Amino acid sequence: MGLSPQWQLRERTSMARLPDRGAGDTEPPRVATTPVPMVAEAPSLATGTVREQAIARMDWAALQRDVAACRACGLCQQRRQAVLGVGDTGADWLFIGEGPGAEEDARGEPFVGPAGKLLDAMLAAIDLRRGDDVYIANAVKCRPPGNRTPESAEMVACAPYLKRQIALLQPRLIVLLGRAAAHALLGNQGSLASLRGQTFSYPEPAGESGGIPMLVTYHPAYLLRTLPDKAKAWEDLCRARALMRQAKSNARPSV
Ligand code: SF4
Repeated sequence: MGLSPQWQLRERTSMARLPDRGAGDTEPPRVATTPVPMVAEAPSLATGTVREQAIARMDWAALQRDVAACRACGLCQQRRQAVLGVGDTGADWLFIGEGPGAEEDARGEPFVGPAGKLLDAMLAAIDLRRGDDVYIANAVKCRPPGNRTPESAEMVACAPYLKRQIALLQPRLIVLLGRAAAHALLGNQGSLASLRGQTFSYPEPAGESGGIPMLVTYHPAYLLRTLPDKAKAWEDLCRARALMRQAKSNARPSV
């Protein structure tokens, strides 16, 4: 455990189609998922409120249909298809990335490219696998052109879907993969380095019953380019595993 994990790209397992942004994921000068154009305008408050209320009542099937037809931001213009996310809808673990990459956009599945394979390896390192107690979603459901990072307005427009996914899942732990995902959930523009090592709560502030713990780590696409940081990601995964154990322990009814 003191050693860097031997994460290797693996052949895709049968399970899951998880979300991911393709090879465009990057961290620092992060050029997250896809390309660029995009002029997404934030939805008006009135429209947003009505839309958000409607989305907040959707079940998984309705969410899938609505996302597929969504045109709430400019990312709809160049997508092949929207990618809601995939995995176990009863999962304790929720991993959130940035947005679909080219391969995800083509296949309609998240995290299916090299970054997705690395994510598989990361999950395996903590005895998880996609589709089995794990759900993966993205901050935006449509591929940003050029694998660029989603803009704030795009993440705001797509936020009701992610919010509904979290409400339906009720995960015990949320792992934010990369800066864009962190910013989408935390509204925090801090660097990834400043966000790592902290435990956040969803929602923030937590309600009376407490919130869902969240932590931030590197996006697999970034790790593909920055191998030395794999050791830090391993630290984050170990902390995530400890937080999950704690969450499950806290949930045990006292006897
Ligand atoms: S990214 Fe989200 S808000 Fe924008 S068009 Fe796609 S589904 Fe709609």
